[in-house]
Amino acid sequence: MAVKYVYFFGKGKAEGTAAMKNLLGGKGANLAEMTNLKLPVPPGFTISTEVCTYYYQNNKQYPKGLEAQVEKALAQVEKAMGAKFGDPNNPLLVSVRSGARASMPGMMDTILNLGLNDETVEGLIKKTNNPRFAYDSYRRFVQMYGDVVLGLKPQSKLEHDPFEVIIEEKKKEKGVHQDIELTVDDLKDLVIKFKQAIKEKRGVDFPEDPKEQLWGAIGAVFGSWMNERAIAYRKMYDIPESWGTAVNVQSMVFGNMGDTSGTGVAFTRDPATGENTFYGEFLMNAQGEDVVAGIRTPLPISKLAEINKPVYEQLLNIRSILEKHYKDMQDCEFTIQEGVLYMLQTRVGKRTGFAAIRIAVDMVDEGLITKKEAIERIDPDSLNQLLRPIFDAKEKAAAIHEGKLLAKGLNAGPGAACGKVVFSAIDAEEWKKRGEKVILVRIETSPEDIKGMDASEGILTARGGMTSHAALVARQMGKVCVAGCGALNIDYQNKKMEVKGITINEGDYISIDGTTGEVINGKINTKPSEVLQVLIEKSLSPEESPIYQQYAKLMGWADEFRRLKIRTNADQPDQAANAIAFGAEGIGLCRTEHMFFGGEKILAMREMILADDVEGRKKALAKLLPIQRKDFDGIFRVMEGKPVTIRTLDPPLHEFLPQTEREQAELAEVMGVSLEKVKERVHSLHELNPMLGHRGCRLGIVYPEITEMQARAILEAACDVAKDGISVEPEIMIPLVGTVKELKLQEEIVRKVAEEVFAEKGISVKYLVGTMIELPRAAVTADEIATVAEFFSFGTNDLTQTTFGLSRDDAGKFLPYYIEKEILEKDPFQTIDFNGVGQLMKIAVEKGRSTRPNIKLGICGEHGGDPASVEFCDSINLNYVSCSPFRVPIARIAAAKAAVTSQKKLKAEKPKAVKKASSKKAIAKKATTKKAVIKKVAVKKTTNKNKTKKVVSKKKR
Ligand code: PEP
Ligand code: MG
Repeated sequence: MAVKYVYFFGKGKAEGTAAMKNLLGGKGANLAEMTNLKLPVPPGFTISTEVCTYYYQNNKQYPKGLEAQVEKALAQVEKAMGAKFGDPNNPLLVSVRSGARASMPGMMDTILNLGLNDETVEGLIKKTNNPRFAYDSYRRFVQMYGDVVLGLKPQSKLEHDPFEVIIEEKKKEKGVHQDIELTVDDLKDLVIKFKQAIKEKRGVDFPEDPKEQLWGAIGAVFGSWMNERAIAYRKMYDIPESWGTAVNVQSMVFGNMGDTSGTGVAFTRDPATGENTFYGEFLMNAQGEDVVAGIRTPLPISKLAEINKPVYEQLLNIRSILEKHYKDMQDCEFTIQEGVLYMLQTRVGKRTGFAAIRIAVDMVDEGLITKKEAIERIDPDSLNQLLRPIFDAKEKAAAIHEGKLLAKGLNAGPGAACGKVVFSAIDAEEWKKRGEKVILVRIETSPEDIKGMDASEGILTARGGMTSHAALVARQMGKVCVAGCGALNIDYQNKKMEVKGITINEGDYISIDGTTGEVINGKINTKPSEVLQVLIEKSLSPEESPIYQQYAKLMGWADEFRRLKIRTNADQPDQAANAIAFGAEGIGLCRTEHMFFGGEKILAMREMILADDVEGRKKALAKLLPIQRKDFDGIFRVMEGKPVTIRTLDPPLHEFLPQTEREQAELAEVMGVSLEKVKERVHSLHELNPMLGHRGCRLGIVYPEITEMQARAILEAACDVAKDGISVEPEIMIPLVGTVKELKLQEEIVRKVAEEVFAEKGISVKYLVGTMIELPRAAVTADEIATVAEFFSFGTNDLTQTTFGLSRDDAGKFLPYYIEKEILEKDPFQTIDFNGVGQLMKIAVEKGRSTRPNIKLGICGEHGGDPASVEFCDSINLNYVSCSPFRVPIARIAAAKAAVTSQKKLKAEKPKAVKKASSKKAIAKKATTKKAVIKKVAVKKTTNKNKTKKVVSKKKR
């Protein structure tokens, strides 16, 4: 049987369904689904994504049989509409739109009103009795087709749109200001002039034959899959090129047929806050593009009830049908043609992090979805938004009181942002590179601006509604956004804007509140979000904050489902306390070297380094002992019996000595030694590759007294705290071990000290000795190492560095290039390199468990807070992940998602496993499933948009 490439939908029956998203794209699949739901969808057909793939694999040729299938589907549409394509008396007009698997708002091309020519326009007049409408549609079509298919568009940023130039000339000639004031003859003339311009500048005739128009448009839509914007967008959101786009050809309905017609966008719930209310906007006498492009500011959807009550009620009914059917918030497009409602699209609506959580929690409460489904829907990184700063209310009120409120726009993307004004996306990117915080101010944004939007703290636009490009994209990126702020007079040329008689120049500070829509002159300090105010500052009670309550509910569900424990990397009691407030269940890494900085501590450390012999070192270490003990004491008390992994000294010693001559002279004086001596020590500690030098356990091996002191400080503190009735669970971790012997030597020191301390204190505590797996040799000899180590913690920062032979301090010079050129899919210091580093981890897990089955396994590299890496850690069965305190909530959700996904997979596999009764086979199956999960993780890409840069220089972390 011939391959099916074309899928018809119309008159209550469709060949596709929502489940066929990969084949039909999101738009096509949902048009089919809405048709099957008997919603009013104009008939049409979808050309599958497979055609796109074929097209690019075969030198832009279409597969055999496509043409015949298109012809057949077109005939079905003609029949359904009672009109004929190209018929001068009764013409069928169609739209041709892209539709990829993942929604890519505005990134690809669309053509409307296709099928119009000098003859069919007359037929349209006959049909509608409205020559102005017919010619307006015709001139829009020629303009769109000329731009998208025939390539007549501005060649540079400075050049104006050639079609708009012609329209402006016409308006000038006629002495009018608005397009609407142009007459039928003016529009007729515009069509002629547009066609002339196409011929002159592009050297081609505008095609009069509707079939030729159709194939031109289909080719252009497939072609737009490879345009610069689409490529940039795909990169940003990790959408594979191989997915391709579908093409939807659908009969036109018109929102611009007069005052009883209109068009709009509606969300079944508020996409900014998540509130369960019908939300959207519309424009009467307009085409869809007018709403999205932000050229006219639309009306809120509730106003439609005043204009056409039956249609509004029909929409409310559709809202409820869609939510019940899809069980998720939908974002739909509709058109009213002469009082009749049509649905043009529905898809899962993009939402802010706030809205995502509220909708998920509410839908569980409403019985629409399960708790597991709620967890699956949350992008862990979007929690960043709930933890993001808000303006200090007093400071903001004072600024407003002083008259600094410049204007109010639409609250399109919640949160508070403050930065220097820039007026172009390119400037935003450049300023960001220089380390500046910027607010991107535009009349309206376009898809080309996405990189600049991403580089900005916030986005402010003068035009457009809540569903304008700026608003949609900002919400998706989790950016603060105020849109449609009509009071701004923006002058791109002179890089300034004027508002309320005040001039704001490029580089001036403004503050925007994406929750209220306010734009304020100057800088306003931000303060912690509500969740932080409840959890950390304790300045707000949980009852006062609905946002906190939703967050807490969701976190509770995450904790029910996750298998992985979540720990934190913390070196100070206050950091540990924050992490506990966020839900940390232990400390996965306490870097003791961080305790050596500041005042007295660093002096004692330097004294130790400058000492000439073991006696001198011991004397200095004796000064460090009480300092370290105090730090550990504080941490144990805060942790109240939760496990605390404390790592012995790791960085090379030169990092503790001053590098400038002035500082060295000061140190010499304080220490009572000569400057030469200090210099000599700095010189002797100098290493060419300190990261591979005298660091980690190599320090404790050459200077065992350091490990002795640290073990003593840890265990003395543990005993003291235990004596006060607080339980303690210390885990002493030896860094940078490559051989079991190294670990053994250090372990012996720790155990000996423990015996001494327990005897002296008259109390003993349970403790573990383990190691980091951060060298490839450690990973591949993990079975030997596990004979000594009671736990492993994967130090994936060093493991990545040593596996790749890539310096984490110097990689910045070429890593971005590697990512850009897709030599590496992701920054391996952010997301575990599953196929390389990840495989070493897997080997270490298997080998470690082979000699010590109950060995505790965790990760403490920065990857422990990266959702994709957390999923990987779940798939290889680690016991816990450890990350920075502010990423703990993100890791909790990521771990729950990973557990839910892998349970689902196992369930799907189970029936087959049961059939194969032999237990051996069943086990093998289970192992394969795990493998499949790992594989999936390996190809899965996630976005890391809001993540701060993680690789910090040298060992000064
Ligand atoms: C690691 O290497 O992953 C680690 C946690 O240790 P550090 O970053 O301190 O070297
Ligand atoms: Mg390390």
